[in-house]
Amino acid sequence: MAYYNEHTVLWQDGNIVKASEAKTDLYSQSLHYGYAVFEGIRSYRTAAGATRIFKAVEHYDRLCRSAEALNMPYKYDTDTLIKATYEVLKLNNLQDAYIRPVVYAPANMSFNLNTTSYTIIQTWEMAPFFGERLLKVMTSSFQRPNPKAFHIEAKASGHYVNSILASQEAKAKGFDEALLTDIHGFIAEGTGANIFFEKDGALFTPAKGNILPGITRATVLEICNELNIPVEEGQYTIQQLKAADAAFFCGTAAEVIGWESIDNTKFPAPWKETLGKKIQQAYMDKVTEKQLALA
Ligand code: PMP
Repeated sequence: MAYYNEHTVLWQDGNIVKASEAKTDLYSQSLHYGYAVFEGIRSYRTAAGATRIFKAVEHYDRLCRSAEALNMPYKYDTDTLIKATYEVLKLNNLQDAYIRPVVYAPANMSFNLNTTSYTIIQTWEMAPFFGERLLKVMTSSFQRPNPKAFHIEAKASGHYVNSILASQEAKAKGFDEALLTDIHGFIAEGTGANIFFEKDGALFTPAKGNILPGITRATVLEICNELNIPVEEGQYTIQQLKAADAAFFCGTAAEVIGWESIDNTKFPAPWKETLGKKIQQAYMDKVTEKQLALA
């Protein structure tokens, strides 16, 4: 996939720079040790035709919290970064886009603290997913990182080696995605998305503590509240998941996407009749501000 071409620009510490000409420091502690934080954000063309970054404040606030968790100097406030993002989207002529801010370290081959950091914001086109495609998921042989080894609630680059290994394993075995357990063997999350499953008219999702508490997960909980869908947060086993009626992943990139099976065990409920499908619709209405356009 081509993320940029000769016209693409990005935001680099207050400057608009051509992506093909941007330079950085190859002695960065981030490149060598995975010590960086980032966000995955989306913008959508709304029903009224405007460009809107979905949950922009929540994402940039999380970026700030992630940097703080890793003791990284954080140079810009949320408002500045949101304005910069809208500028980059406009200059790149994008409405439906993926937005990737990264805060990373200067040259430093030691493990010591830094007195400054670099910030970039990149964007590329990403069409919304309205489809019916369902995922074949496998239980990964990899577990999520030990929360006593990492600040698991921070979106840190180094954590994603775990996601890459789990995702590659799942694809090599003919599955679409991996589901990882936590260090106690309870279901935790996907490689880049949170999980909900449905049983007897209610939804269940792993509690915070061993997961990245997603902004989409919070939006799904918000939708459950609006639609009076009962939902419980707790610790659940693979056996409980296998006995569920349906399941879905949710995340900024994944949006809301249903599952066909876990470890080749098919879920019995037709996706169209599940709570997940209802939530998928409500989620797409929210990101495209459909309700507002009708009001
Ligand atoms: N878990 C992991 C491991 C992720 O990488 C992501 C994507 N950021 C999520 C969950 C979902 O988070 P969000 O809804 O904030 O995108």
